[in-house]
Amino acid sequence: MELRPNETFVHSGPASDAALRFIGRIRTPWTTREDCPRQGRIDGPECRIDLDPLWHGALRGLEAYPTVEVLYWLDQSRRDLITQSPRSDGKTVGTFALRSPARPNPIGTSIVRLLRIEGGVLHVQGLDCVDGTPLIDLKPDRCAFTPKAPPQPGDSQTA
Ligand code: SAM
Repeated sequence: MELRPNETFVHSGPASDAALRFIGRIRTPWTTREDCPRQGRIDGPECRIDLDPLWHGALRGLEAYPTVEVLYWLDQSRRDLITQSPRSDGKTVGTFALRSPARPNPIGTSIVRLLRIEGGVLHVQGLDCVDGTPLIDLKPDRCAFTPKAPPQPGDSQTA
């Protein structure tokens, strides 16, 4: 893939450590990366998250949360960039100073509005990924989540 001015990359070799398990697919109206919004909007178009049947039981209780954190694998990204020059302003910064999809482990996250769950399908708003993007995880939005376990040292008073 082509580099923009001042962008640099490394030869990082094949990824060899943690193996992720894709647990479903995200269905969106966007067929190319260029079509996608840069960040999802909570009032954006309705999208679908199709969870693999193996994991349907793991949805129990999630319907109680109006907002959910979705983690996904930005599978069309390059993974070797050290510095990047975003198209928006061309100002070169390090990969970790950006939310760019190009990163060593291209994990995307969005907080989505949960409209409804039908079987293993979640209907949501707030995504920004290409149709068919692999799903990694779903979690209640941390702002709405109250831990079930007793408080631990180091927990904030409000967590
Ligand atoms: N909201 C996530 C985050 O902040 O972690 C992702 C933000 S990233 C800037 C969103 C962009 O990634 C989209 O505008 C699109 O250009 C690109 N993108 C979407 N789906 C992708 C995919 N499956 N593989 C690689 N890039 C993707």
